[in-house]
Amino acid sequence: MKIVMLGAPGAGKGTQAKMIAAKYEVPHISTGDIFRANIKNGTELGRKAKEYMDQGLLVPDELTVDLVIDRLSQEDCKKGYILDGFPRTIPQAEALDAALAKRGEKMDYAIDVDVPDENIVNRMSGRRACTGCGATYHIVHNPSGKGDICETCGEVLVLRDDDQPETVQKRLTVYHDQTQPLIDYYTTQGILKAVDGTQDMNDVFTAITKILEA
Ligand code: ADP
Ligand code: AMP
Repeated sequence: MKIVMLGAPGAGKGTQAKMIAAKYEVPHISTGDIFRANIKNGTELGRKAKEYMDQGLLVPDELTVDLVIDRLSQEDCKKGYILDGFPRTIPQAEALDAALAKRGEKMDYAIDVDVPDENIVNRMSGRRACTGCGATYHIVHNPSGKGDICETCGEVLVLRDDDQPETVQKRLTVYHDQTQPLIDYYTTQGILKAVDGTQDMNDVFTAITKILEA
């Protein structure tokens, strides 16, 4: 089961990807999480990625594509994976398809979690991310039972630097310009499935499982 999650920043891709990964026992691969881990660990990649992320811009394809393709060749990806936040540009999608084709494989589903821009700013301003394990909460829709502390690992929860309202607007513009064209790309391939991401997160998940089990 190989899945690409599509949708605006804050649409709920990560939330759903984690639920799918747990249910179907496949790895959840988030490029945003990989970049944040590199920033936290002070790597050269993290330093370069942060320059773009803090401005709400995409990290250049040269820094992103090989990283993901390498990750997909690891043993735990043999029975599938969920890509969250990748591809984000047409060249990334083409590079992914080319790498899969070399192995005689192809993507199975592209799931578009559809949420209008009006809802996104609220989603992002209420999002709280764990500085330890990367778990995601929402102060209203999915609060931690321990306040500002992560229920899973006990580390502190923060508003991400790139979830400040000014940066969110920029990220939405970048999404519409560079990432939304992927909806047509995967529609043409016949694997695009859209779900209404404005529903309660459990209802979104039910809609996704219906697609995967149809
Ligand atoms: P993405 O990975 O697409 O950027 P997230 O999964 O991090 O988005 O979700 C963004 C924020 O919205 C988080 O705070 C999350 O808890 C919350 N959220 C996710 N899905 C829903 C939903 N269906 N209804 C309300 N809030 C949601
Ligand atoms: P996310 O956690 O998916 O919201 O990603 C956070 C930020 O990381 C994005 O705003 C981009 O700056 C960067 N990023 C994540 N994935 C990609 C990607 N596939 N291509 C380029 N930049 C990315």
